[in-house]
Amino acid sequence: MTMLAAAITVHDPAQALADAARAAEFGAELVELRIDTFTEDLAALARLVERCPLPCIVTCRPTWEGGEYDGDEQTRVAVLEHLGMAASGGPAYFDVELAAYQRSANLRQKIGLVVDHPDQVRPAAAAGLILSTHDFQGRPADLYQKVEAMVSSPACRVVKVAWRARSLRDNLEALELVRQRHKPTIALCMGEFGLPSRVLAKKFGALLTFASLDDDSATAPGQPTLAQVKGLYRWDALGADTAVYGVVGWPVGHSMSPAVHNAGFDAAGHDGVYLPMPMPPEYEHFKATIGAWLDMESLHFRGASVTIPHKQNLLRFVAQRGGEVEALAQRIGAANTLTVRGDGSLYASNTDYAAALDSVCDALSIGRDGLAGRRVAVIGAGGAARAIVAGFVHHGAAVTVYNRTEPRARELAEALGAEARGLEALPAADAEVFINCTPVGMHPAVDATPLTIPDMAARVGPGTVVFDTIYNPIETRLLREARAAGCVTIPGTEMFVRQAAAQFELWTGRAAPLDVFRRVVRQALSGG
Ligand code: NAP
Repeated sequence: MTMLAAAITVHDPAQALADAARAAEFGAELVELRIDTFTEDLAALARLVERCPLPCIVTCRPTWEGGEYDGDEQTRVAVLEHLGMAASGGPAYFDVELAAYQRSANLRQKIGLVVDHPDQVRPAAAAGLILSTHDFQGRPADLYQKVEAMVSSPACRVVKVAWRARSLRDNLEALELVRQRHKPTIALCMGEFGLPSRVLAKKFGALLTFASLDDDSATAPGQPTLAQVKGLYRWDALGADTAVYGVVGWPVGHSMSPAVHNAGFDAAGHDGVYLPMPMPPEYEHFKATIGAWLDMESLHFRGASVTIPHKQNLLRFVAQRGGEVEALAQRIGAANTLTVRGDGSLYASNTDYAAALDSVCDALSIGRDGLAGRRVAVIGAGGAARAIVAGFVHHGAAVTVYNRTEPRARELAEALGAEARGLEALPAADAEVFINCTPVGMHPAVDATPLTIPDMAARVGPGTVVFDTIYNPIETRLLREARAAGCVTIPGTEMFVRQAAAQFELWTGRAAPLDVFRRVVRQALSGG
C-alpha cells in the first residue's frame, strides 16, 4: 500500500518532533527528516530518530543535488553511519543519491554496513536503502540507465527518481515507471505540471508520495500539502481502478473545479479523482497531451472540464479523433466538457449554456419550452455571451445583445439569430431577463455595474430576472440593486454549479449533489 510521507526540514529536534506529530495527526504514515542543515549534534539526531512518532527516512541532501548540505562528504557519510549503528529505533530508510553512491566506494561500504541487503551480516541493520536521482531542470536523458543502475544495485531496496516535468505528459512516464517496477519505486514529477504523478502514485502502487505540512514547508517544487492530498485529492479512496478527471486550462491554479468535483465524488461514492491540468494554449499541446492521457489505458482518464483557452481546441480534437460533438457546442464554437464514454468513444459538449438556461428557467418556474418568445437582454459579446445567446435563441427566446464594441455584438447576433445594439442602448432595453456576460462589477472593481437598475425603475422590477454571470463577489452591485427593486436574481455561482453538475452527470451517470457543490463554491469564494 502506498504510504503518505511528510517531508520535514529539521531546524532543531524539538521543531522536527512537533512537525512529525502534526504529520501523524494529518494522516502521514512516514516522515522524511531532511537533516541537510542539522548534522553537528549526532546524539540529538539519534534521539530525534528514536523518538520520532512515525517511521522515518533520513536524508542529508547535498547542494549539488538540490539540497542544503554544503559540508564535506566524509562528515555526511559519518552522520548516516552513526544513525544507522543505533542498536534500535533507527531510521526505516536512508535516502542516498545514486551519483554519490556510484562515485564513492567509502559511501557504498559505510552505507552497506547499516542497511539491510542480501549480504548483510549485522541483524540490527534493518533500514532500507533508497537510491535517488533528482533533476530540477527537466527529464534526465539517461533516466532509464539510472533506473537500471539502481535496480541492479544489490543494496538498493527502493528506486527513487524525480525530475521537473516539462508538461503533463511527463507524469505518464513517471507512473509507467511505477507500474513496471522491478523494485519498490518512487517516481515523481516536480514543478507546476507534476501534481498528477504525486497524487496518482497510489493508484499505480508507488512506495510512497511526499507531501508537506503546509504551503511554506515544501521540500520540492510542486509538492502538495498533506491536507490537499488527504482531503482535496481523496487519498484514502484512491485505488488501481480509480477514474481520472481534470480541469484543462491555462492557467488553472485558482480553479474551484477540483474542490467541487472531488467533493461530489466523495458525496456520491464515485471512484474518481479530479486534478488541475495546466496546459499551454497551443493546439499542439492540447492534442499531444490529451491524446497521450487517453491512450494510457491504465490511467482510466474519463473526462475533463475544459476552460480558456482550450474550448475551441476541444471541438477540433474530438472531431479529429472521430468522436461526437454536440450540435449546439459546434454552433457556439466552444465546448467545455470532454466525456470518455463506456465504449471509449469521445464526446465534446457545452454545459455552460445549459447551466444558464436552467438557472433562468428555475427562477421563472418554467421548463425550457417556456422560453419561447421571452425577451432576453444579453450584455457582452465574448465567450460566455456566445454560449448563452446560442442556448436562448435555440429555445425560441428573442435575444438582444448589448456590447461596448457594437460590431462585435452584430457579428455574434447575426451568427446566432439575435438582435444587436451598442451598450448605450441598454438603459432603454425592454426585456424580461437581463444577463450580464461582461466582467463589469467583478472583484476588485465591485462598485461598477453594467446596468444601473434604479434608473430603470419603470421597466425593471418584480417579475424581471436579473442574472449576473460574475461569481466573485457572489452578490454584485447589479444583483444587489436588482434585489432591492424586487427582481428575481441569479448569481454567477448558480451557473458555475450547474455547469459542473451537468459534467458530473455526463461522467458518472448520476445526479450531481447540488447542495454539496453550492457549499464548496461558497466556501471557496469566502476563502474558507
Ligand atoms: P470575454 O470573452 O473576454 O468577453 C468579455 C466581454 O465583456 C466582451 O463583450 C467585452 O466587450 C465586455 N467587457 C469587458 N470589459 C468591459 C467594460 N469595462 N465595459 C463594458 N464591457 C466590457 O469574457 P467571457 O469569457 O465571455 O467572460 C465574461 C464574464 O462571464 C466573466 O466576467 C466571467 O466571470 C463570466 N463567466 C462566468 C461563468 C460562470 O460559470 N458563472 C462562466 C464563464 C464566464 P468588448 O467586446 O467591447 O471588449
